[in-house]
Amino acid sequence: MKKSILLQKKYLRQNKLPDKTGHFGVFGGRFVPETLIYALDELTKEYSRAKQDKKFASQLAFYLREYAGRPTPLYLAENLSRYLGIKKVYLKREDLLHTGAHKINNTLGQVLLAVRMGKRRLIAETGAGQHGVATATVAALFGLKCDVYMGEEDIHRQALNVMRMKLLGARVINVKSGTQTLKDAMTEALRDWVTNVRNTYYVIGTVAGPHPYPEMVRNFQRVIGDEARAQILKQENRLPDYLVACVGGGSNALGLFHPFFNDSKVKMIGVEAAGLGISSGKHSASLEYGSTGVLHGSKSKILEDKFGQIKNAHSVAAGLDYPGVGPEHAYYQEIKRADYVAITDKEALEGFKLLSKVEGIIPALESAHAIAYLKKAGRPIKKNAIVILCLSGRGDKDLHESH
Ligand SMILES: *Cc1c(COP(=O)(O)O)cnc(C)c1O
Repeated sequence: MKKSILLQKKYLRQNKLPDKTGHFGVFGGRFVPETLIYALDELTKEYSRAKQDKKFASQLAFYLREYAGRPTPLYLAENLSRYLGIKKVYLKREDLLHTGAHKINNTLGQVLLAVRMGKRRLIAETGAGQHGVATATVAALFGLKCDVYMGEEDIHRQALNVMRMKLLGARVINVKSGTQTLKDAMTEALRDWVTNVRNTYYVIGTVAGPHPYPEMVRNFQRVIGDEARAQILKQENRLPDYLVACVGGGSNALGLFHPFFNDSKVKMIGVEAAGLGISSGKHSASLEYGSTGVLHGSKSKILEDKFGQIKNAHSVAAGLDYPGVGPEHAYYQEIKRADYVAITDKEALEGFKLLSKVEGIIPALESAHAIAYLKKAGRPIKKNAIVILCLSGRGDKDLHESH
């Protein structure tokens, strides 16, 4: 039997990854300075306590429902289905959540954990500003101090999100080192955490970073897939043939995919950003075109040059513009549980316009990558298929990029 199938069988038996050291196969783990181990251990312990605690679960359910607006609809997009020549395309409407994307599912979970741990201050790093806004939002809600690290270059590019964060009471810290973008902001945030760990909680925005973040963020996002699974069973009385979602760090995709892991007939397709085209070198397709390496505290697929320097990622969708990806995706790719493909900026813009025109729904440019994939010639999805696509966010933020 092929190695990938054996690995998959093993996983199906365990169905409990990551292991105690935070590994998904060879991926994941902790690659951080010694000074952070204590903080990560403390977080791991508190998180496993919270997982067992019914009060924590009911608190989180309350805020997801009453504050964020869950459950989100599973909408049968009939016009889009007809246009694409696919029997049924359902959209999981994360775009309808408070703050306009799935990121609030995770920041609500993490802020409740921070409060439990008695931390009075949140820190976060942000590239496009969307995770910064989602963190500043929950900090306002719980009356915590909030500092968001952001590269100077990004502060200029994302002025509107900077204004939002400030209005919400957060301080935006200008990072002037390196390329002045996300990866430098993350380095600074980690440095801050080392120094202030006693009163500070570090909120990571996707399924990346050192253990326990990839597992924890996945579990906070799996509400997407848990709801979608129950909804499709109710509406169709069967499971879907395909799940499709865009992949930046990979949290909305894993949120949808993970609850279907053992349903081996359900195929999963993650859509990365091919940017200006793979051959241009300006893209963010770390799963399809990256190599195994360490970034931001864990081992995964990353974009690096032959000297081991992290490359600058590119995508028209700011949320996909990241030179790494969560370790669990690298694992799904290795065992062939999911397929990963890449869509260019140009194709994504067509997806953006298509959904707006035929359904009256303006998608985030990130989600538009997933839409565009359904439109692409040669995609394996058959005519009689039922598809669930994660509409990770709304596109109001992207209007200036889209013409
Ligand atoms: C941040 C973001 C993404 C990418 O992040 P993932 O962790 O890959 O989900 C995708 N869509 C939207 C709308 C986002 O804001």
